[in-house]
Amino acid sequence: MSYLNDLYQEVILDHNKKPRNFGELQGGNRRAEGFNPLCGDRITVYLKVEADVVKDASFLGSGCAISTAAASLMTESLKGKTRVEVEALFKNFHDLVTGKPNAGAEGPGLGKLAVFQGVSEYPVRVKCATLAWHTLQAALANKDETVSTE
Ligand code: ZN
Repeated sequence: MSYLNDLYQEVILDHNKKPRNFGELQGGNRRAEGFNPLCGDRITVYLKVEADVVKDASFLGSGCAISTAAASLMTESLKGKTRVEVEALFKNFHDLVTGKPNAGAEGPGLGKLAVFQGVSEYPVRVKCATLAWHTLQAALANKDETVSTE
């Protein structure tokens, strides 16, 4: 796990060990599955969406520490956000992990998601960090197909 050395290890390892919102969502009305063949990460995202607002979110899956921690932190950041706000947050998160300067300067703040900043130095890990988000987009769009990062 040497690639974690420069990352915010503590938060990521904690969320990997004790993922938040882990399990099928009671009362959920959207779900989608995602797969990152490069790493073998698999995830199912569950949402409860009412009137374009994410009321609740959870996930199930197995994968590397980055993918699990990213999914865990993502589900924590979604509640109460509209679809438009979720898209804006994902854009900022994507800018962050792909190393765009001024990532998160506009739009919703990244909060704890900023722990993934170091991922930008490990391009192969970007897909691990964004898998949950791509799967989330499919769930919001109600697409009933497995999302692949490839
Ligand atoms: Zn991975």
